[in-house]
Amino acid sequence: MPTAQLINELQSCGVRLVDPTAGHESRRGGAGPSDHKAMTIDGMTVMVPVHTAPAFASPYVVEKPDALGRSRISRDGVTLGKVSFPVRPRFYDRSTADGIPYWKIAVLHSRDVLATTVLQSCIRYQSRTKTCQFCAIGQSLAAGRTIERKTPAQLAEVAKAAVELDGVKHMVMTTGTPPGRDRGAAILAESARAVKEAVDLPIQGQCEPPDAAIWFERMRAAGVESLGMHLEAVTPEVRQRVMPGKAQVSLERYFDAFAAAVPVFGRGQVSTYILAGLGDPTEAILVACEKLIALGVYPFVVPFVPISGTPLESHPPPSSAFMHEILGALARMLRSGDLRATDIKAGCGRCGACSALSTYEREGVA
Ligand code: SF4
Repeated sequence: MPTAQLINELQSCGVRLVDPTAGHESRRGGAGPSDHKAMTIDGMTVMVPVHTAPAFASPYVVEKPDALGRSRISRDGVTLGKVSFPVRPRFYDRSTADGIPYWKIAVLHSRDVLATTVLQSCIRYQSRTKTCQFCAIGQSLAAGRTIERKTPAQLAEVAKAAVELDGVKHMVMTTGTPPGRDRGAAILAESARAVKEAVDLPIQGQCEPPDAAIWFERMRAAGVESLGMHLEAVTPEVRQRVMPGKAQVSLERYFDAFAAAVPVFGRGQVSTYILAGLGDPTEAILVACEKLIALGVYPFVVPFVPISGTPLESHPPPSSAFMHEILGALARMLRSGDLRATDIKAGCGRCGACSALSTYEREGVA
């Protein structure tokens, strides 16, 4: 089986770990990939669900790794490939002068990405009628696994250590949406500026579309090289159902913001995250991707993962056949549009661990 398809299968079904302690700690709750574990398969480090209900029943099994973290993945007793686990980052052992462990400020994603949620609260999260149904941003905060507001100085300190001790290559700064018309752009800009003063690390900022295009200029001037503004779903019906608060920011508003951001950050340096499997049909996702690519926006399509404790925890993940159809076609569209994950300076599109998309791009899977 080509690696792209194996990764696609694993991300749809999840895996059972014979040794649940394999690899470094997996995250549960929080923004971004959760209930996953990072694994490297054929040189690609990907996030694979391990704590979700489908993963507990998955036909794919990862054996207990050896002392060097190497293992094998099998199905029905047949070995499908070799797997290794990224080691626990060394910066996790450090704390700030006031006693906050660095891992509560930023975490390692995949193999070489430093990720932080600058503001671990969101105007949409407190209300059942507004919250994005897939989001777990408040869970890690409630469990004491992070702090609500990471200061620029804390982020700079952790980023410097993560580069020096663990060789991280880029940084993702996301944020819950604060009250205010900048939608988080201001705190991303001040955080990026502080990190850049401390260490040379490419940064992606992720926020909702701010109210004025000047915020793109401000973020770029502060050191944000790549920008993510995440549609999550592409049809008004699905957006209204799964993200009733965020759906008030219309698709038109997002597309206007993409058109304004690309000239500032550059073609291919603006991206969006699309969760496939929430109800948007294949055709609608591909039509949206075509429109995005024409604007110079990289559509990072990832399979939806039902995170425990969220309103969508029982929603099934998409089938690997559904994802294969989308990712194969999307990889071809990206090639025609001359957009590549490997050209992105920082962020989820460059990391690629939450989707098999970049492996489809690499392998040219049709
Ligand atoms: S794709 Fe984004 S969210 Fe997923 S592991 Fe990479 S940096 Fe984290």
